[in-house]
Amino acid sequence: MAKLYVVCGHGAGDPGACAGGYTEAERVRTLGQRIKELGGNEVVLADTSRNWYEDTEAGRGFHSIAPGCPVVELHMDASGVPNAKGAHIIIKEGFDADEHDEALAKRLAEFMPGRADRIVKTSGLLDPNVCGSRGIDYRLAENGFIDSPEDLAIFSERLDELARIYLEVFGIAAQAAAPAAPTPQPAQRETTENFGGTYRCTVDYLRVRDAPGLGGTEVAHYSSGETVTLDNWYKIADGYVWGRYTGYSGATRYIAVGKATGKPEADDYLVKVG
Ligand SMILES: [Zn+2]
Repeated sequence: MAKLYVVCGHGAGDPGACAGGYTEAERVRTLGQRIKELGGNEVVLADTSRNWYEDTEAGRGFHSIAPGCPVVELHMDASGVPNAKGAHIIIKEGFDADEHDEALAKRLAEFMPGRADRIVKTSGLLDPNVCGSRGIDYRLAENGFIDSPEDLAIFSERLDELARIYLEVFGIAAQAAAPAAPTPQPAQRETTENFGGTYRCTVDYLRVRDAPGLGGTEVAHYSSGETVTLDNWYKIADGYVWGRYTGYSGATRYIAVGKATGKPEADDYLVKVG
């Protein structure tokens, strides 16, 4: 008997919110898939090729299911406002938060802090309204802000912990031998005392990005022989070591120092000169 029905927001051509090289539709599908992988038969993952909002609007979606177990619809927020971050859940206005809502909101807010209200009630969203009128035990979870680099990093690098929050809240034991995530991101050190300094570019064209990783948008580049001063922060992502500096505009910039081998290499893109 299933204990949780998971719906992933957006999709079928609707990317949802976009930031940091990711789309909300893709991120919440990755999370939904992981909840299903870890939760096994006690989790039902609704068809991820669909856009449930559109289906419900068209009289299908939540009009056509009778899950017989709690439902969670996965989303990420976006604000365009610097420093907005944190997870929260949304339930239908007029309904009281139940035990699952309270527990999920508490765990998500601890995992991705930042929102003043952990539980928001609204009467203006289609899916909660249809579920409310049909007696479906429903909540919508905003898993942080996709345009908060901090939330996005927590989401992507600690995906299994996030997935396990859902399982634990809904009383599902995670599978012992769950397959590894497709792109495991082990916890990495993100600062070191002697990483920072002046680096010289050794390649003809080295991209500067707005996020650490190949998904970051190119915002500038360095040419061979130019120097850049990095701070002590670094991160390993997509097989590369990423360094960081603050651009003239005040924006944080990220640049690949070289392949992640655990030590400086002769063919690194940036070589420390001071
Ligand atoms: Zn959304």
